[in-house]
Amino acid sequence: MNKEEMNPSYLILDFDNTIIRGETMDELARISLSNSPEKDKIISEIEQITALGMAGEMPFDESLSKRIKLLKAHKTHVGLLISTLKKRIDTSIINNTEFFKRHRRKIYIISGGFTSVINRVLEDMPFNENQIYGNELMFDDGGWITRVNKENFLSKKNGKSALLNSLKLSGAIATIGDGFSDAEMKLSGEADMFFAYTGHILRESVLHHSDFTVSSFDEIIQLLSEWD
Ligand SMILES: [Mg+2]
Repeated sequence: MNKEEMNPSYLILDFDNTIIRGETMDELARISLSNSPEKDKIISEIEQITALGMAGEMPFDESLSKRIKLLKAHKTHVGLLISTLKKRIDTSIINNTEFFKRHRRKIYIISGGFTSVINRVLEDMPFNENQIYGNELMFDDGGWITRVNKENFLSKKNGKSALLNSLKLSGAIATIGDGFSDAEMKLSGEADMFFAYTGHILRESVLHHSDFTVSSFDEIIQLLSEWD
């Protein structure tokens, strides 16, 4: 690893199981299906699809549309989802708020989750809203979530790499996340290094693609000694 790579110009952060503990879709399912007699069965099905996607065993676009069909979520569920996720922000991010404030222009969030949800969950945190990228939820006339906007890069296979490419950032880029889609940005050559984040979940199939395995943002900040 050369010095430039140890001193990246940009950090790309994942959201689910990185910035927050848990997966947005799994949490939304717990809320939207809370009164369903088939709740446990459908939630475990959704969790399995999430895990397959994150391990790289199911293409992301397929895993996303399968889960949205199973969710049966309404826009009234989204408010509860946001308040649930706000309580799940990684404590090592909260404890390093000053670092994130200082470096906010160099930090992007690229997530397969939903921009409207992420913006609200992080509204009191030092991230720039115009540097947060996620999927766009689409509702029908009755307010039910039916799909995501398919024009968005992030709804597609290897979408994080395509989105990152579209940002045209110059300089070395480090990605941080728990899932295969985060490793994929390095594997596709769009990013220079990948930190596997194990603070919330450890996915063996992702670890072997990583330059570093880190379990908290304290460890990441130590590795980025050149940033201060
Ligand atoms: Mg993740």
